[in-house]
Amino acid sequence: MTNLLGAVEIRSLAQALNLKPTKKLGQNFVVDANTCRKIVKLAEVNSSDVALEIGPGLGSLTLALLDEAKQVIAIEIDDRLANQLPVTTKDRGFNSDNLIVINQDAMVVTELPIEPTVLVANLPYNVSVPVLLNVLENFPSITRGVVMVQSEVADRLAASANNKDYGSPTVKANWWATLKLAGTVSRSVFWPVPNVDSSLVRFDRHKPLGSQTEKEATFLVIDQAFAKRRKMLRSALSQLLGSNAEQTLISAGIDPTVRGEVLTVEEFLQIGMQLVNGNSTK
Ligand code: SAM
Repeated sequence: MTNLLGAVEIRSLAQALNLKPTKKLGQNFVVDANTCRKIVKLAEVNSSDVALEIGPGLGSLTLALLDEAKQVIAIEIDDRLANQLPVTTKDRGFNSDNLIVINQDAMVVTELPIEPTVLVANLPYNVSVPVLLNVLENFPSITRGVVMVQSEVADRLAASANNKDYGSPTVKANWWATLKLAGTVSRSVFWPVPNVDSSLVRFDRHKPLGSQTEKEATFLVIDQAFAKRRKMLRSALSQLLGSNAEQTLISAGIDPTVRGEVLTVEEFLQIGMQLVNGNSTK
């Protein structure tokens, strides 16, 4: 298809809307149709998919998604962009009946009119991790996805245990999914050109690791462990696990002298289960 958006179309849409892209909303628009096609392909979007896009902006990726998916749900916080999207869709020859636009902050959306199966998004950089975690938590029908984020964040999301990039975002995302780096994206495909590099992350949802209660307890443990990342777990978790932190960790099958950065999400869950079962002295 040739009716996707390029640099000329993006500029003229922005001009017509009198849009000055803001840093606050992470508004860097992709002006290269091939990049959008590549992202859609990496997510293996097909005609049975309902794709969820966060931050469709002027519609570069949305149109590439409409080319392949059965339906697209697009959540956009900026009123002007949300209102324009169905118009652009129609003007470029796509069926706007296949597009549902939700003019809201993606951080607070917990329900959708239909169940999405795949997430494909060039995420607003300042909220990329919380938005991704929110989507993974609230939309279990999503089995996989590809997100574009700042390269530094991508390295963190896809890191393995015992690596300097491994941290709370990695372990939390791993509660729901397996994540891997899926390529870098040149700064030159954006308008305006950002002052950071971007990368793609592919994720695939795995079976639930535990109940909601176990998840909440495990996330408390993760937060504490990484808040004091240089400390041994028996000390980093002493507030949360009480005076008997060392014994609680041993009961969970975890060496109390290691740091949180060496534990997988499954190992964090073992500690979380001690909290749920009341085996800490707190
Ligand atoms: N998808 C478009 C593209 O690739 O050209 C635009 C991506 S741009 C990096 C991020 C988009 O997310 C902007 O359109 C911005 O207005 C929107 N946005 C920012 N914060 C948001 C939020 N909390 N919820 C929904 N959309 C948001």
